[in-house]
Amino acid sequence: MGSGNADGAWRLNKPSRSRKTKIADGDRPSVSPYIAGIACRCPRCGRGRLFNGFLTLAPACENCGLDYSFADAGDGPAVFVILIAGFLVVGAAVVVESVWRPPYWVHALLWIPTILAVTLGLLRPLKGLMVALQFHHNAEEGRPDRGKR
Ligand SMILES: [Zn+2]
Repeated sequence: MGSGNADGAWRLNKPSRSRKTKIADGDRPSVSPYIAGIACRCPRCGRGRLFNGFLTLAPACENCGLDYSFADAGDGPAVFVILIAGFLVVGAAVVVESVWRPPYWVHALLWIPTILAVTLGLLRPLKGLMVALQFHHNAEEGRPDRGKR
């Protein structure tokens, strides 16, 4: 039998108490999640650093102590980077090809560094933005209700 309820239906749990208190303790931030996220700062105070390394999250905010364990951006930043960078770079390559028709080595020289710069440049702010929006909207992974009746 599946792991759904007795009636076979799957339901999403509301966020657990511990998680709610973890995220919602203290005042709700007056910091814009967009500004804090793109600046790679803490989504609650807007001051502490969000990352330890290039894409590794710090364990907690060094300023307000917000535990970053709630954060799980998953593949979201990579998907947005692929869509945005693909649109920009492929669009630019098509324009250059149709206007100037340069040899292929010119395309390689233009677009390989450009795609690296655009993708690596967008990855960190987009991950910061997704974590900040996750905090702002109190979003978390849905889990099946195991039917505590
Ligand atoms: Zn903070």
